[in-house]
Amino acid sequence: MTDIARNLAAIRARIAEACARANRDPASVTLVAVSKTHPAEAVLEALAAGQTVFGENRVQEAQQKFPSLRPAHPTLRLHLIGALQTNKARDAVRVADVIESLDRPKLAAALAASIRKEGRTPELLVQVNTGDEPQKAGIPRAEAGAFLRACREEHGLAISGLMCIPPVGADPRPHFAWLAELAAKHGLRTLSMGMSADYEIAIAEGATLVRVGTAIFGHRDYPPAAA
Ligand SMILES: *Cc1c(COP(=O)(O)O)cnc(C)c1O
Repeated sequence: MTDIARNLAAIRARIAEACARANRDPASVTLVAVSKTHPAEAVLEALAAGQTVFGENRVQEAQQKFPSLRPAHPTLRLHLIGALQTNKARDAVRVADVIESLDRPKLAAALAASIRKEGRTPELLVQVNTGDEPQKAGIPRAEAGAFLRACREEHGLAISGLMCIPPVGADPRPHFAWLAELAAKHGLRTLSMGMSADYEIAIAEGATLVRVGTAIFGHRDYPPAAA
């Protein structure tokens, strides 16, 4: 077994245990393997170990790694999880199965136009800046409800859920709980929350997608630039 296969097995076991503690069906939680900065060989190792869902935070890196893998791996699902520039919307719609970082009206308009042009509709999650951190992507808490309505009513976008990245160093639990409450209020079923350090807490709070990078692929050599 490779390290990646071993890490995946250990994480799947911990996800199952966290689900058992929370009285949840383990099938209700999907592990998104965040492969950003790691080479295609690492993705291939994960695929060989049965992992089919991956996350990347830059459109260009996703384009370099993933389209060529699809023919041999038709069940592969790619999530874009990084801040997305409006001028990358069309490439994002082409390459992704899920875009988790919809966070502002201009991007909603650009994605809606790209979806019409491409005839391809990735699943969309709205990213909420639950810590209202000025440097961080995501719609501010107070604007999230109105933005969700605008996505549906003004842009005609179907939103399937919410995503958040709690502030570094903070207790993530209240952030996860707040996001779960917002999702319930808007009838949204998909909740993307939890990373290597806190995915078990996120599962306890209702996460349906956990985004795990370091615990699967090891440390990243360089910090990825913005998308
Ligand atoms: C990099 C990244 C992750 C994975 O983080 P790890 O701590 O390596 O598990 C999850 N979510 C987002 C949005 C990321 O950019």
